[in-house]
Amino acid sequence: MLELRPNCELCDKDLGPHAPDAMICSYECTYCSDCVAKILRNVCPKCGGGFEKRPMRPHKAWREEFKLGLENHPPSTRRVHNTFSSDTIEAHVKRIEHLAPKDR
Ligand SMILES: [Zn+2]
Ligand SMILES: [Zn+2]
Repeated sequence: MLELRPNCELCDKDLGPHAPDAMICSYECTYCSDCVAKILRNVCPKCGGGFEKRPMRPHKAWREEFKLGLENHPPSTRRVHNTFSSDTIEAHVKRIEHLAPKDR
């Protein structure tokens, strides 16, 4: 199950489970779309992969038998903070950004 992290790991903006601007990499690293576009330029600072829009989990279990939705699987409350310096991120992004995510 996808971990719905509560904040942008770079600027710390709140990203609730229905935030329209939440982006994730394949390892669930979570950033706001502003940071992805302007600072990370679609390069995850940790794994180097690209980002996609995070899907919105429904509020309730629409099929009773599966016990899904936020009422059964609430978002994480553990705020995650990127520990790389901005210089380190910029060097990492410069090394990778010219490659399309499928070619990294
Ligand atoms: Zn951000
Ligand atoms: Zn990543």
